[in-house]
Amino acid sequence: QPVLAVVGRPNVGKSTLVNRILGRREAVVQDIPGVTRDRVAYDALWNGRKFTVVDTGGWEPDATGLQAAVAAQAELAMSASDAVLLVVDATVGATATDDAVARVLRRSDRPVLVAANKVDSERAMAEVHQLWSLGLGEPMPVSGLHGRGSGDLLDAVLAALPESPKDLVGHGGGGPRRVALVGKPNVGKSSLLNKLAGEQRVVVDSVAGTTVDPVDELIELDGEIWKFVDTAGLRKRVNTASGTEYYASLRTKAAIEAAEVVAVLLDASEPITEQDLRVITDIVEAGRALVLAFNKWDLVDEDRRHQLTRELDRGLVRVPWAQHVNVSARTGRAVAKLAPALRNALDSWDTRVPTGQLNAWLNELIQATPPPVRGGKQPKVLFATQAQTRPPTVVLFTTGFLEAGYRRFLERRFRETFGFEGSPIRFSIRVRE
Ligand code: GDP
Repeated sequence: QPVLAVVGRPNVGKSTLVNRILGRREAVVQDIPGVTRDRVAYDALWNGRKFTVVDTGGWEPDATGLQAAVAAQAELAMSASDAVLLVVDATVGATATDDAVARVLRRSDRPVLVAANKVDSERAMAEVHQLWSLGLGEPMPVSGLHGRGSGDLLDAVLAALPESPKDLVGHGGGGPRRVALVGKPNVGKSSLLNKLAGEQRVVVDSVAGTTVDPVDELIELDGEIWKFVDTAGLRKRVNTASGTEYYASLRTKAAIEAAEVVAVLLDASEPITEQDLRVITDIVEAGRALVLAFNKWDLVDEDRRHQLTRELDRGLVRVPWAQHVNVSARTGRAVAKLAPALRNALDSWDTRVPTGQLNAWLNELIQATPPPVRGGKQPKVLFATQAQTRPPTVVLFTTGFLEAGYRRFLERRFRETFGFEGSPIRFSIRVRE
């Protein structure tokens, strides 16, 4: 169900208003993990529609970090929700802190509503129009205390919320997906590109609205047009004078940056090298989707296959989530499997786990296996949200640092539950002291 995030500085009457929205029933959906009492997400029902209310009050600033707390709160609200409700105290007007939050929220691609709270009298009503200055549209007068205006506010909230949460983010801009084909010299990049492009070379002019750099190439695979980036170096063999390797590695990095998904070509007939692993690391660090293509499979016999399996167990521990395709650019073996693997990786790269689902999973996991005590204290994991896609980025809000081993445990279980084959995932921990 869709998520409404409620933000506002302390003392604007946020909690009272949240209770008002919940009809004071406070149906708790996520009594967030383990021992904590910091309930932040609630089920709400209005006019027969259910939605989740996330009260970001848990991040109210302490004396030290007002600006940081405000920014984090607004950021969380935007990333974790389908719509944002900013609560402002109409009797005080817009403060510098309100302005700071509004500035962040104005950049939101989610709808933002402004509740002018504490409008308990006609006199307070007169102050409401001043809140237009926040630049977030018409302020809606409410009284959390008396309930005034809350029906209208809820109607507006429902109108702003989508029917279902945004769980999939399209790849903005449209056009063909961008692929880079990388790998060490002589691994067969140009051979594979020729094989792939063979019959299906696309005439650029025939694809509406695409601009293609001379170094890029449009190739139709599996009924879809793909943009292979920086292919010029692949087609014309770069001569190997001194310095070329440096140049080639820069060029590889640039191609990775330009791509959404990278196919790394490895020579299956020869041992995996440091250089291969370095490229894979670069791709993971750049946050790009990844497919591992083992080329020259026509040269692989039984012995080599067993040896390769051992090399993979040792060398590719960082990317157990990457899909493998065993191809031969020479014979054409399995090259048709490349496009579905690329698409699968991109699907993962684009996926967003809805906040409610993510926290239900997290809650259960942490009940069963709470974070280990550290420095005599039990860190609590308060809340998680997948703040981004491309690559998927999960933000965990905690009350203390989590041990590396426990973080890895969470990451592993996250993949076990939600998949994400072919995509790196980033986890970021925000500690609220
Ligand atoms: P690049 O430097 O990565 O572009 O590699 P090339 O495409 O130029 O290939 C290097 C050499 O490997 C050439 O002699 C190719 O014929 C050969 N080669 C490429 N793919 C295959 C393959 O699948 N099987 C075999 N046996 N040889 C291949």
